[in-house]
Amino acid sequence: MIDLRSDTVTKPDEAMREAAATAPVGDDVYEEDPTVNELEAEAADLVGMEDALFVPTGTMGNQVAVRTHTDRGQEVLSGRESHVVKWELGGMAQLSSLQVRTFDGGERGVPTPEQVREGYVAEDLHRPGTGLLTLENTHNSKGGVAITAEEIAAAASAAHDLDVPVHLDGARVFNAAVSLGVPASDLTDPVDSVMFCLSKGLGAPVGSILAGSAEFIERARRNRKLFGGGMRQAGIIAGPGLQALGNVERLAEDHENARTLAAGLDALDGLSAAEPDTNIVLVDTTESGLTAEAFLDRCGDEDVLGSAFGEYVVRFCTHWDVDEAAVERAVERVASVL
Ligand SMILES: *Cc1c(COP(=O)(O)O)cnc(C)c1O
Repeated sequence: MIDLRSDTVTKPDEAMREAAATAPVGDDVYEEDPTVNELEAEAADLVGMEDALFVPTGTMGNQVAVRTHTDRGQEVLSGRESHVVKWELGGMAQLSSLQVRTFDGGERGVPTPEQVREGYVAEDLHRPGTGLLTLENTHNSKGGVAITAEEIAAAASAAHDLDVPVHLDGARVFNAAVSLGVPASDLTDPVDSVMFCLSKGLGAPVGSILAGSAEFIERARRNRKLFGGGMRQAGIIAGPGLQALGNVERLAEDHENARTLAAGLDALDGLSAAEPDTNIVLVDTTESGLTAEAFLDRCGDEDVLGSAFGEYVVRFCTHWDVDEAAVERAVERVASVL
């Protein structure tokens, strides 16, 4: 089986299992789990923030961030295709009583400063006011594009000029950093908070990080508890998370494999795939006459798995359980199903 559905399917390696088995633990709700404390400190450092909070999932990290930045009834300005809008069950409305205003982030999923100013709503007798801007890097729905520090800074500074804080959904921010050849902190410097996943390309079995100022994280800690994310001897899962922080540079292999995959698929009659920035390959199946679902059914018969991302768009995602040889095999098998 060549499972290219997502980089979340990776299984923990021996070092991670060992880290889980031997982690010193305590009650993290009392902030007494040394492994969690170490993970939070290292994670905060990596993204250049004062403090960080370990959360079970990226979705919880985003939703806790949104709740912490805003007041009930405000608007949040987010990309139409962003994960917080598309894939989190309307959590901003359900959990935090917020209204979402979307911008069309174009090919790269990032707003221009003008779009930020256009989307901004000033609070008055009739209007709720904008409480937050969210950005995403890499942008999942746009094919894992790596958004540059300049693009982020331009959007964030437009928001800050309006006194609106900025949260970055950086589920794969290290993929962006490695692809751009910059430290992740360059990409997070312009924003007020960032969430990133340990459980994707970095390979941890569970967990994400929310980072920001010490004052922000103190308030976020209460909201994590409110959302049911106050964990006890969480060092058992934070241990593998610490190992995962050491896997940042390895992401370059996933990117190389994604480029090989995209080039191989693009060369096949009926498919087109642009060269990816990172580990996500979007394949357009229109020319083959097959819908994404029909195409994926056939791929599944050949033990190649992907995800439908649109009627004629398939997403393949590379990760550390898929090496170069597997990627080449995947291309051959896809060729055979066409
Ligand atoms: C995966 C993902 C998340 C959510 O992470 P989970 O751990 O699956 O809840 C948030 N944002 C983006 C862009 C993602 O790709």
